[in-house]
Amino acid sequence: MSIVTRFAPSPTGYLHLGHAFSALTAWRRARAAGGRFLLRLEDIDPTRCRPEFAVAIQEDLAWLGLDWDGPVRVQSEHMDDYAAVLDELRARGLIYPCFCSRADIRRHVIAAAPHGPDGAPLYPGTCRGLTDRDRAVRADEPHALRLDMARASIEGLTFEEEGEGTVAADPARFGDAVLARKDTPSSYHLCVTHDDALQGVTLVTRGEDLKAATHLHRLLQALMGWAVPVYAHHHLLTDTSGRRLAKRNNAATLRALRASGITANEVRDRLHRGEMA
Ligand code: GLU
Repeated sequence: MSIVTRFAPSPTGYLHLGHAFSALTAWRRARAAGGRFLLRLEDIDPTRCRPEFAVAIQEDLAWLGLDWDGPVRVQSEHMDDYAAVLDELRARGLIYPCFCSRADIRRHVIAAAPHGPDGAPLYPGTCRGLTDRDRAVRADEPHALRLDMARASIEGLTFEEEGEGTVAADPARFGDAVLARKDTPSSYHLCVTHDDALQGVTLVTRGEDLKAATHLHRLLQALMGWAVPVYAHHHLLTDTSGRRLAKRNNAATLRALRASGITANEVRDRLHRGEMA
C-alpha cells in the first residue's frame, strides 16, 4: 500500500517555523516513500479563518519548496459532507442537541467533576436527558451537537502510534464531546477524521498537542467504519525561552524570515538540525 500523508493547517494566521516543521515532516515521509502528500485547509471556523491566510499558506509552502498532490481540499466548501455524517449519527441516536451556554455549563459542573484532555471539566450532561418534546420545542434555538459517549463508546479500540506501538484508545476521557458548535455546524474532530478517511490518508503526522484528540478520532472512525491511519505525533518547536511557537512569535513566521533575507534552504536546514528562530 502506498503512503499518503497530509498537512492540514487552519488559515488563522501566517505559517511559522512550527508549521514548516510539521509540513516538512509529512512531505518528506511521502516523498521518501514515493507516496502522496496532500494539503488541506481546515477553515470551518469563519470567525478565525481568513482567505488571505489560505493564499499565504500556499505561497509560503511553495517558497519552502514543498509541492502537494492533487487539488487542495478546502473544508468550508464541503460542509454538506460533515452534515451528512451528523445526520447519520443523529439517526442512530448517538448525538444530541445541547443548548447550554458556557455559563450554564460552569453552573452545573460539580466541584469534583472529572476533567477532559484540554483541562476543562467534562460536560455535566445537562441536555442529554431532554425529551424529544423538549428538543422539538427548542429546535430553533442555537445549539451544539454532542456525542452521547455512554451510547457511542466502544470497548477495545486501539491505534498505532509510531515509536510507541499499539495504543489503547480511551475516548471516554472526552465525555460528551462537541461534534458541531453553535456557531460552526461541525467540529475539528469530525472534519479531520472524515477527511483523512475520504482522502485515503495512511499516515497522520502532526504535533503532539493533538495526540490526545486521536483517542476521540479513533472512536469516530469505528462508528463510521472509516479506515484507520497510522499516527506519528512529533514534538512541538519552542522559542528560545522554551515556549511553544505561536502566533505571537512574529519573527518566526516564514514571511518574516523570507523578508530578513534567509533562504528556503537555510530554513529547511535549520529545521533539520533542530534549530529554531
Ligand atoms: N487543523 C489543525 C491545526 O491547524 C491540524 C489538524 C491535524 O493535523 O490533525 O491545528
